[in-house]
Amino acid sequence: MKITLYGVRGSFPVPGPFTFKYGGNTSSILIEFNEDQYLIIDAGTGIRNLGNYLLSTKKKPLNINILFTHTHWDHIMGIPFFAPIYEGDSIINMYGPESSKEQTLKDIILSQLEHKYFPVSVHEIGANINEVQLTETTFNIFDAKIRTIRLNHPCFTLGYRIEYKDKVLVTIYDHEPFDNFFMDDNQAKILHGKLSRSEILNLNQKIIDFCENAQYVIIDSQYTKKEYLTSKKGYGHSYFEYSLALGIKSNSKSVVLFHHDPSRTDFQLDYMDKVLKNYINENGYKIETILAREGLILDL
Ligand SMILES: [Zn+2]
Ligand SMILES: [Zn+2]
Repeated sequence: MKITLYGVRGSFPVPGPFTFKYGGNTSSILIEFNEDQYLIIDAGTGIRNLGNYLLSTKKKPLNINILFTHTHWDHIMGIPFFAPIYEGDSIINMYGPESSKEQTLKDIILSQLEHKYFPVSVHEIGANINEVQLTETTFNIFDAKIRTIRLNHPCFTLGYRIEYKDKVLVTIYDHEPFDNFFMDDNQAKILHGKLSRSEILNLNQKIIDFCENAQYVIIDSQYTKKEYLTSKKGYGHSYFEYSLALGIKSNSKSVVLFHHDPSRTDFQLDYMDKVLKNYINENGYKIETILAREGLILDL
């Protein structure tokens, strides 16, 4: 399994001199099982370069599977610039959180291709696009076993656990510790303070169990703990210290700190990297921390 990070930024793309090292494109990840079996997680602005790579290297017609964590704009905004959707013989299967009958997952994603937003309309799409709407479930793509889990975010959001041969990759973003709980069964109402302490602990433990013994957990690290506690509670994102603790408690080999805040500079991310590595050394933990960076390849 070869994992390439094409976009690692949260919330909004921020190209420029202060984000040159870690990258400004929003979430998009390519997982290649072998030359012709691959899948994508999320379609942020990083998917533009990813699509060009597929077109120039993969066997035609393209057979593409995209797992969407959710439909917030930073995770779908690259679709109009994803060149394979204009290829007449491509097949694109979109997997993601179940939406409503009136507006399905595919409707939400493709609604970006309307003339009021974009010069190309949905009628000019050439690919054959299918959708698979998911709740918490298990399914297979190629020889990979994929499990989903509901995360804590202001819209229905899924984490993915991908098991291939004896390797495990998990994604946990966009996600906030369940101490601030967003969702009821309708997945939308804000229910702050309506869960008991033991219910909160159980939900947090379920996330730890989901990550158990992973080689890589790609995890939301938008804030520092200080920022989170001061002003970012309830935004639906985690902080570096929580992300590291989740990796340690789940006995994961590496945490890949991901979904960097758009205001976070390369200098600040380098500093966070040092602080975390010092903390791990001082406490004798075995876990590895990796700051997600555009273009980074993780081999499994
Ligand atoms: Zn996001
Ligand atoms: Zn989000």
